[in-house]
Amino acid sequence: MTDVSWQNRFADSMMRTFSPPLAMLVRGEGCYVWDDQGTQYLDFLAGIAVNSLGHAHPEVVAAVTQQIGTLSHVSNYFATPPQIELAERLKRITGAGDEGRVYFCNSGAEANEAAFKLARLNNKGHRSRIISLHDSFHGRTMGALALSGKPHMREAFEPVPGGVEHIDSTIKALEATIDNTVAALVLEPVKGEAGVIDLPAGFLKRARELCTEHGVLLIIDEIQTGVARTGAWFAYNHADILPDAVTIAKGMGGGVPIGALVTFGWASELFRRGQHGSTFAGNPLVTATANAVLGVIERDDLAANAARRGQQLREIILAFNSPLIDEVRGRGLLLGVGLTEPVALKLGAAALANGLIVNAANETSIRIAPPLIVGDAELADFTERFGRALGSL
Ligand SMILES: *Cc1c(COP(=O)(O)O)cnc(C)c1O
Repeated sequence: MTDVSWQNRFADSMMRTFSPPLAMLVRGEGCYVWDDQGTQYLDFLAGIAVNSLGHAHPEVVAAVTQQIGTLSHVSNYFATPPQIELAERLKRITGAGDEGRVYFCNSGAEANEAAFKLARLNNKGHRSRIISLHDSFHGRTMGALALSGKPHMREAFEPVPGGVEHIDSTIKALEATIDNTVAALVLEPVKGEAGVIDLPAGFLKRARELCTEHGVLLIIDEIQTGVARTGAWFAYNHADILPDAVTIAKGMGGGVPIGALVTFGWASELFRRGQHGSTFAGNPLVTATANAVLGVIERDDLAANAARRGQQLREIILAFNSPLIDEVRGRGLLLGVGLTEPVALKLGAAALANGLIVNAANETSIRIAPPLIVGDAELADFTERFGRALGSL
């Protein structure tokens, strides 16, 4: 008899780039998803900080439905109303203002590829160095991989584009590195993929000062932290600075693939006509959807909800007083639970077995990134399910 389980069909048809899937999901609503067996899970990962408004949000469904029935794609030879509306909205919420410019793309990696090309344009004849942080993650395409401070992801694919140097996430390393031979400093304000690791206090502020002093582009990768997740539109808002460019993706489309590079001030002058582009990018379908997502986040002040619920979630996790839990890192609704023992995979599996989706970012970190719409009921449900998972270890 042939085995026709979905696990085998997956293994026999999908490229071997992923580990075996944890479940076969068939439906979602709000902060919950269901698998093919009818099992319900509380989704506190939100597709890795993507489903800002949870699953099947009625206003997102309406926006997609309306737009795909009207005009879904036209190519970059034409403008469309949702595209311009979204670009204007991004200029406003990023703080890029009048001089801001927006380049649309289809993913986080593509946003960082655009940022990489932007950095190359800041060469002024002698700037060839691009600085990024050890243990950072910026995506899987070649340029994004070169920026990422994770040698094990990179090594099989070398040579990657050159000129990138990785430094420690300390103010001392910044001061020793940033000078007028540097084209750009690229960083994550909270290292999500590394297990939700915060930058040291004052780091962003000092980075801003040094980059301004030496004509270096400060490029902040807010692909995971952005769009209200940390309790402000962007994590750099907490440090009260503005970057020269910001990359955005994940949470902005509520599930449709869209990314953006937004430039500020003089950085908006660097790209010239014909120097970059993408067929799907910024089409009316995805931009209309992103407008709906950002509109709801703004109207319902989900940044404030992320700040408040994130604080509650932190307190809930610490109140377990578990000897396995060392600390809670991160901000708003992007939290990393630092464990005292390398049991994150086991804890993640136990959570799943108890109907809770969280993510083992590495052996000692659990990443939690629920939809920004979480309320009292979901937090109570989390407390119960996470408690059972912890108790089962
Ligand atoms: C996810 C992520 C990326 C890559 O985004 P993709 O859409 O997967 O290409 C880049 N940077 C950060 C900080 C991310 O979290």
